Amino acid sequence: MSDNAVDLSAVKDEIRQMPDPCAVIIFGASGDLTRRKLMPSLFSLSCEGLLPDQFSIVGVARSKMSEDDFREKIKEGVEAHSRIKSSQCNKWDSFAKNVFYHRANYDDPQAYKSLNKLLAKIDKQVGGACNCLFYLSTPPSLYPVIVDQLGRAGLAKQSEEVWRRIIIEKPFGHDLASATELNHQVHDVFNESQVYRIDHYLGKETVQNLLVFRFGNAIFEPLWNRNYIDHVQITVAEEVGLGSRAGYYDTAGVMRDMFQNHLLQLLSLTAMEPPAEFNATSLRDEKVKVLKAVQPIKPEEVAQYTVRAQYRTYRDEEGVASGTETPTFAAIKLFINNWRWRNVPFYLRSGKALAAKVTEISIQFRHVPHLMFPLPPGEQLPPNALNLCLQPNEGMNLRFETKVPGAGMRTRSVDMEFLYEQDFGENVLPDAYERLILDALHGDAALFTRSDEIELAWSLVDPILEGWAGKYASTLAFYELGAWGPGKSEEFIRADGREWLYGCSQNGASTG
Ligand code: NDP
Repeated sequence: MSDNAVDLSAVKDEIRQMPDPCAVIIFGASGDLTRRKLMPSLFSLSCEGLLPDQFSIVGVARSKMSEDDFREKIKEGVEAHSRIKSSQCNKWDSFAKNVFYHRANYDDPQAYKSLNKLLAKIDKQVGGACNCLFYLSTPPSLYPVIVDQLGRAGLAKQSEEVWRRIIIEKPFGHDLASATELNHQVHDVFNESQVYRIDHYLGKETVQNLLVFRFGNAIFEPLWNRNYIDHVQITVAEEVGLGSRAGYYDTAGVMRDMFQNHLLQLLSLTAMEPPAEFNATSLRDEKVKVLKAVQPIKPEEVAQYTVRAQYRTYRDEEGVASGTETPTFAAIKLFINNWRWRNVPFYLRSGKALAAKVTEISIQFRHVPHLMFPLPPGEQLPPNALNLCLQPNEGMNLRFETKVPGAGMRTRSVDMEFLYEQDFGENVLPDAYERLILDALHGDAALFTRSDEIELAWSLVDPILEGWAGKYASTLAFYELGAWGPGKSEEFIRADGREWLYGCSQNGASTG
């Protein structure tokens, strides 16, 4: 790798400076997300020297735990899940001494008064606890009550000198009506500028690289439109089934769990116009424009534009309703009605218990307009494909045709490949939560979802769910564990004369 790195964040002073002294207050601190992601990310940030000296964490939950128990619990989480382990960084003691536990019922006004007092005490003891980042990591049903209580206790109030922000975990709402209502409840207490709705996909380094790839290079953008691109595929595949999460999942399904957030976010980043500036407003304005231009799939069109399926053993999972129709896989075709993308299909698919864990965006270019090489009748050279691999092998590859050495004019597809790990070394990619929590501490909301964006996403998902629940739906398909979805998914794309691409997973299709 040549050493010509340009720091694109140099213009964003706040990213280069230390965040203000502050406290992070996590609601639901006894839970899985706190143990596996939030605390390990905060510890890694501390090890990287990215947190201020005057920094503290308050865990809030109902569970009976002493402060020492809580610290012990998070240490176990850090050891198991942190990118940087406490053995690799000598900061555990200084980090842990500023971690506090506040036992509370989330709907108890008294608990918020005592939280206020605790913060005042920490402010004296550690400093900085007047600036507060609240993190809602409880079941979503508790978000309204916590937001309301924070408001009543005056904890959401900021001033010239003091900031108050709130990160809200996904899912944000269950449908358009509930997301809109939650937005209202949140806005009753916090201004939109204080609110950070998290979708951890946007914190992934490779997702952000999509922005650099598209807007930091001159060679791709002129091709990035209907004149050169035949279609786009976005795949978010998971290898594991639902297991102990099946009970919760059964009330959501793949459309709410994956499409409403991750897949539509990836779609808008792939399809958006170049923002004028890299800031929260410009970036989110462009993403919103894409969502507004997506042609909604009407309930009566679901059989034409969607496939839904369930892995065969899903109904045996604990906690799912008997005979449940909740899909664990879906494939959909969307069109974006604007000049850039008119008539270019975007195929989105996602599912559980599939053949591999992979997230990729594949851009398939058009066939050459005229082929001078003689090919048997009806045959064409494979078109070029650009594959953006978001996980697990982060990088990208460009597939193009080359001549096979030797006599004649035989061709073969080859890949030009970039792999993050090869160029930048192992273990350099920060966890998505590290990046996003740090951004929120800096007051940078560019990689968080705005209220209108979330409502637009739900407005695209709701009619599909309505269609699936009604008379227009085709029958639910089933697939074997470890397949790439049902055979119907292959038929769905083949009906358009296309195939699913496996540009990052390479191991091709095997359907059940
Ligand atoms: P948990 O189910 O582990 O819940 C977090 C905490 O909330 C629990 O430890 C518990 O603390 C409290 N809690 C749980 N149920 C109730 C209840 N019925 N009433 C009151 N309090 C309750 O959730 P996670 O940590 O897994 O997730 C937190 C949030 O983050 C959720 O909204 C989830 O959707 C989201 N999320 C989670 C991910 C993950 O990987 N876990 C990934 C992406 C998003 P106590 O009883 O001590 O108060």
